[in-house]
Amino acid sequence: MCVQHQLQLLLFLAVLSLTKSYSVVVIGGGWAGYSASSTLASSSGADVEVTILEASPRNSGGGLAGGWRTASGRPVEAGIHGFWREYQNTFRVMRDEIGLDLDDVLSDFTPSVLFSKNGRVATAPVLATSARKGRKSSKSSNPILSSIYGSLPPPLDTALLADFDEKRLNLQDRISAVGLLSGWADFGQEDPDSWGRYDKISAAEFFLDYGGVTPNLYAELVSPMLHVLPMGPGSDISAAAALSCFHVFALQTRGAFDVRWAKGSLSDLIFDPWRVKLEEKGVRVEGGKRVNGIERAEDGDGMVVTAEDGSEYTADAVILAVGGTSAAKLKEGSKALKEAEGAKRVEDLRGVTCVATRIWLEPAPSPTTGLGGGAYSSTTLPKAVARAMGESPIAVVGAGVLLPELEETGFCIYDLQRMHAEQHMAEDTACLEVDMYRADGIADMSDDEIVELALRAVSSALKIDPLQVNVVDRAIVRARNAVSHFNIGSAAASPGIKWGRNVYACGDYIDRQGHASWSTEKAVVTGKQAAERVAKDLGLKGVKARVIPAAPDTPQLSNLRRLAKSIRRVSGAQRLPVPVPWTIGKWIRKGVRP
Ligand SMILES: Cc1cc2nc3c(=O)[nH]c(=O)nc-3n(C[C@H](O)[C@H](O)[C@H](O)COP(=O)(O)OP(=O)(O)OC[C@H]3O[C@@H](n4cnc5c(N)ncnc54)[C@H](O)[C@@H]3O)c2cc1C
Repeated sequence: MCVQHQLQLLLFLAVLSLTKSYSVVVIGGGWAGYSASSTLASSSGADVEVTILEASPRNSGGGLAGGWRTASGRPVEAGIHGFWREYQNTFRVMRDEIGLDLDDVLSDFTPSVLFSKNGRVATAPVLATSARKGRKSSKSSNPILSSIYGSLPPPLDTALLADFDEKRLNLQDRISAVGLLSGWADFGQEDPDSWGRYDKISAAEFFLDYGGVTPNLYAELVSPMLHVLPMGPGSDISAAAALSCFHVFALQTRGAFDVRWAKGSLSDLIFDPWRVKLEEKGVRVEGGKRVNGIERAEDGDGMVVTAEDGSEYTADAVILAVGGTSAAKLKEGSKALKEAEGAKRVEDLRGVTCVATRIWLEPAPSPTTGLGGGAYSSTTLPKAVARAMGESPIAVVGAGVLLPELEETGFCIYDLQRMHAEQHMAEDTACLEVDMYRADGIADMSDDEIVELALRAVSSALKIDPLQVNVVDRAIVRARNAVSHFNIGSAAASPGIKWGRNVYACGDYIDRQGHASWSTEKAVVTGKQAAERVAKDLGLKGVKARVIPAAPDTPQLSNLRRLAKSIRRVSGAQRLPVPVPWTIGKWIRKGVRP
């Protein structure tokens, strides 16, 4: 071979090595899987092939947040999904990666009304400045509080501006909430020691025994919130999860509790256009591919992923974006996952069962108008329901409303005619959604029984007469063990982003130290972090997670944290939360030294 040919060959080999192409298989097509894929597909070297394998045949995008249409063409989802004010990374994905105008797909910030089994407890105020109209939409029945609202630090703004029902919570109950400040300040959102300490006790024990809230405040306010946010009773949710969840969803910044809701199904508004964008970037999205095998390739370099239909994929890296309980199932049959050091306690993760019930009703003879809070101000739901939900189309209800079926089940009621454009336009039906959380027993009922229970739950929660309605259509989604359960000890079992060589994971159950976020936002953030880690390990160019950090502590919280640190130092308490002074008697009686 002449020198010239040798040089050409060398050049060819050099170019070949520079453009070495990698393949990554992402298992699961929800927020986490799509975020990871979108981040990887931004590789400036275009040196990576990304394939998403999603189990659901009808829904190749969206995961728990996705949806489909019934035989009669009506949209169905596994529950309605809200976007809290601090979902900064999710909002950026919608804007920059999918190219959406947020005001086209999401409602303005919307208040919600909280009910306990005894009736209405409070209306959460909207404290944010309206995104669209540039106005403050805060409301308080107290004009003095309203006028000083701008100077109230969080979380006092939410606490003082919420419109509480005096019959449910008296002044003593509300003052007892001050005790929670010590735990909130003591619990470091990103501190493994804090997580370790508070992961060992239940939320109920923390709030009642250490935080010193009155039993009434716990029953009327704290417990209903636990039933719908981390979706469980305080006795079965860890104190760490409760503190982290309340911080993220309610306490961290002004208006953190404000929520925007999609104006229609997330599949139509978000995941369909997102899938198109991903495919334009070369990502392959394959529905109907339930993965049942993840093993190392025989040469030990890379992975082989198999789906139930027998198809096989080789990959340089695999990202599991399937949710914790599904990951545990995959591990059962996978030698590679069993050997992955980072996945060693995945089988200890648990799931919460949700039942989402959408009921289309014959409309009331005339609409009820002038209703507050929603994207639309009228509804043809029965008058009694419309009036009971006059402040907001969203009612958040704690457990125990009807016995025995709802003993441990919290739920949300949505008037979809006031939230979704498509339902608002439908003249022949009104539409009610009842999403029930921790609903294992209910998931086993027939569709008819669930609809009947949901309607009874609505009338019982809203304290109105039993509903006499004609059901035109219904759709029931049973999401069994599908939502991450943050029980006592769950933080200790949560894996990180990297499980082992070539194996990564993302989702809302991933180790919660590192970015104080929950649910959708957590799935998006960990999706991006997993993609960045894969890119780093494979040497892909230009892949940047660009995760927006969680909001920094407010000056008030920073001061409280300093105080909490001093108390912990002086008291010598190491293992457990420091109790507030008015619970000390209880501790002495118990003979326990925290
Ligand atoms: C009723 C309900 C209401 C909710 N409300 C809110 C809300 O208001 N706001 C909010 O932020 N969050 C909410 N959530 C939580 C939110 O839906 C989740 O945090 C989010 O969907 C997590 O996204 P993910 O991508 O990690 O997992 P998932 O959405 O669970 O997606 C995982 C995907 O993996 C697929 N999969 C599983 N196993 C396999 C396999 N073996 N092979 C291939 N694919 C597989 C599944 O089909 C699924 O599509 C709610 C959840 C429910 C159920």
